[in-house]
Amino acid sequence: MLSTEQQNEVRTLLGERRKIVVTSHNNPDGDAMGSMLAMYHYLRRKGHEVWAVLPNQFPSFYNWMPGSREVLIYEKSAKPIQKILAGAELVFCLDYNAIDRFGASAEILARSPAKRIMIDHHVEPKLENFDYTISVVNTSSTGELVYDFIEMLGDKKLVDKTIADCLYTSIVTDTGSFSYAANNVRTYHVTAELISLGVDASQIHRLIYDTFSENRLRLLGHGISNKMIVWDELRTALIWLTKEDLKKYNYRVGDTEGLVNYPLMMEKVNLSVLLTEKDNMIRLSLRSKGDFSVNDLARKHFKGGGHVNAAGGKSFATMEKTIDDIKEVLSQYRKALDFKLNY
Ligand code: 5GP
Ligand code: MN
Repeated sequence: MLSTEQQNEVRTLLGERRKIVVTSHNNPDGDAMGSMLAMYHYLRRKGHEVWAVLPNQFPSFYNWMPGSREVLIYEKSAKPIQKILAGAELVFCLDYNAIDRFGASAEILARSPAKRIMIDHHVEPKLENFDYTISVVNTSSTGELVYDFIEMLGDKKLVDKTIADCLYTSIVTDTGSFSYAANNVRTYHVTAELISLGVDASQIHRLIYDTFSENRLRLLGHGISNKMIVWDELRTALIWLTKEDLKKYNYRVGDTEGLVNYPLMMEKVNLSVLLTEKDNMIRLSLRSKGDFSVNDLARKHFKGGGHVNAAGGKSFATMEKTIDDIKEVLSQYRKALDFKLNY
């Protein structure tokens, strides 16, 4: 958290009109979008000149979010973004805790003369490259921390329905609709405040989750029916999607979001792995039950990280080799994976 002195510094910084960039991580999810856009609207209400920048495209099921059309994407607009970052005074780094999570644009961000503020809830933050760090692991989402940040600055009155909708999106997506990472009273207090500002929870749920194309739903079915391996002895299920699979179902950004959660619905499965073939690597998405830390697993073996029960990583080997490697790595964890959740 920020010391009192740092809080005052930030308050002073924001005390006059600044050029500010709000950013979030590569492959943005609901919390990335929600925390970034909430901060975007808040800072504009305060009178700052603000740009929202992401490394790559966000899924279309966030197109409804207020401000989403104004987001600049580094993949598409590198030159203007380089200029904006070179002239910025302050950059908010939201929902990521290491500068390399800003993807292809990480170096440009590191070189910007702007002060950098991290607001994040992932484990093991890398503090270098940040001037201020708000890193709270035991919290639902970065959106909740953005609410706390606004409150700390005495600006709750600036939180309107637009900002509340963004913050609610953060909380609802990062808790799997209040099914995990949602065991803090604070989360429900903040959520209650957001609802009182006019958030329509069922509308937002539909806007995010009930927007599948036919292809996306069929890809989900294909993944589970035809591309899922179950290693009973490791209590693990793995779904592997090649470029061919993705092409066959006319893959769009976000179409595989949530797929990795399904195998955990099996009682016998404690670890779920989704492999997605990209142009120059295979992306790993990992989910676990109980105390088995996929953050540790991803950091130690798969060049990634995240949270205890949700993490990501990558492999530069072929699909076949990647699957073999994962099985071999997991055989070291056989004991740790062999548990049953009880009441
Ligand atoms: P997902 O599997 O949904 O892409 O990511 C799950 C969680 O892990 C998210 O909180 C995400 O921010 C984090 N994550 C995904 N990929 C990486 C990675 O390569 N490095 C780190 N440190 N975190 C990641
Ligand atoms: Mn998050």
